[in-house]
Amino acid sequence: MATVLVLATNLNLVCTAMIVAILGAGPAGMSCANACLSFGLTPVVIEQSSEIGGIQLGNFHPNLWLLGEPEETGREMSVRMARHFAALPLSCLRNSRVTSVHGKAGNFTLQVETPTGKQSIHAGAIVLATGTYPRSTPGLTALAEQSPRVIIGPLSETIRDDILAARVLILGGGDNALDHALFLAERDNQIRVCTRRAFSARQPFQSTCRTNPKIELRHDCEPDDLQLEDARIVATWGQIKVRYDWLLAMFGYLPNSNVLNGFAPELKPALSASGHVIADAWQRTTVAGIYAAGDLTETPQPSVPTALAQGLVAARAAERDAESIH
Ligand SMILES: Cc1cc2nc3c(=O)[nH]c(=O)nc-3n(C[C@H](O)[C@H](O)[C@H](O)COP(=O)(O)OP(=O)(O)OC[C@H]3O[C@@H](n4cnc5c(N)ncnc54)[C@H](O)[C@@H]3O)c2cc1C
Repeated sequence: MATVLVLATNLNLVCTAMIVAILGAGPAGMSCANACLSFGLTPVVIEQSSEIGGIQLGNFHPNLWLLGEPEETGREMSVRMARHFAALPLSCLRNSRVTSVHGKAGNFTLQVETPTGKQSIHAGAIVLATGTYPRSTPGLTALAEQSPRVIIGPLSETIRDDILAARVLILGGGDNALDHALFLAERDNQIRVCTRRAFSARQPFQSTCRTNPKIELRHDCEPDDLQLEDARIVATWGQIKVRYDWLLAMFGYLPNSNVLNGFAPELKPALSASGHVIADAWQRTTVAGIYAAGDLTETPQPSVPTALAQGLVAARAAERDAESIH
């Protein structure tokens, strides 16, 4: 089993602690790392970006689902958690990514590219906590590359600060689409929300949007064409062309399961039809010694509290399973 020597000064003991490689430092990964320390495991966290905290770092809305700090925005919450995480006695590699994984439960070898070069990490267990990214289409991605007025996914500073008294087209019919429509309506914008089929957003969002004169909700309304013209967006429905100042695409999220690309074939956990990692109530995947937590898994209600709890459970499972790996 991959271990390090740990001096448990308060107990005046020297003991061995299994290394747990945690991929991703959002709420799930941070919570898992924190819990690993409680369970006597040694977490090593590998985060691809420069900032610790996960997707909520961009959330300028208050977090409605985490008890304790009702006024705190998602970003403030993430910064608070990241501050706690930074004070923990653990190793965290930022701007880093795993390029290959081999071995078996109790004895995995991960090759990691870091800003200072390649490193090998020997770990007894692996926890996947890489979350999700906003869904797009190739056409929309190309438009977004050409114009800062085309934005894929929610939670950007541009949406918060720059969209004022403008015509906005939002594509999508879920909570994010309607939540942003309401936010932008308060900033004197005129918004059309178009969804390909029916709206799936929570009923309170739908009814509030329907009574807001600045918001027009349209179902079965996918544009036939979207073009950039003089830095504006022209949407076409049949014979009708409408010019918008901003286009926001809010189609939901896809799991960051590409983290598994470098894993040996026998170490790739089973995925659901939507590409999420399948995990049981202990956050065990279909591969022994590999666990998954947070939005990367198929979770009935993805949220920060859910991710925190799943990270904790994954650490507990790794600790428990370590006893049987010999
Ligand atoms: C618009 C929006 C609003 C939301 N509002 C709320 C809310 O009000 N309250 C609430 O509780 N929840 C909310 N959520 C949900 C919440 O943000 C997620 O459930 C939570 O962040 C999931 O945590 P996570 O750690 O699984 O993933 P993430 O927060 O996505 O973190 C994943 C981390 O993994 C890193 N990563 C990705 N790929 C790799 C890789 N290959 N290698 C290494 N690292 C990688 C990422 O950089 C990131 O740091 C909202 C989500 C969205 C999108």
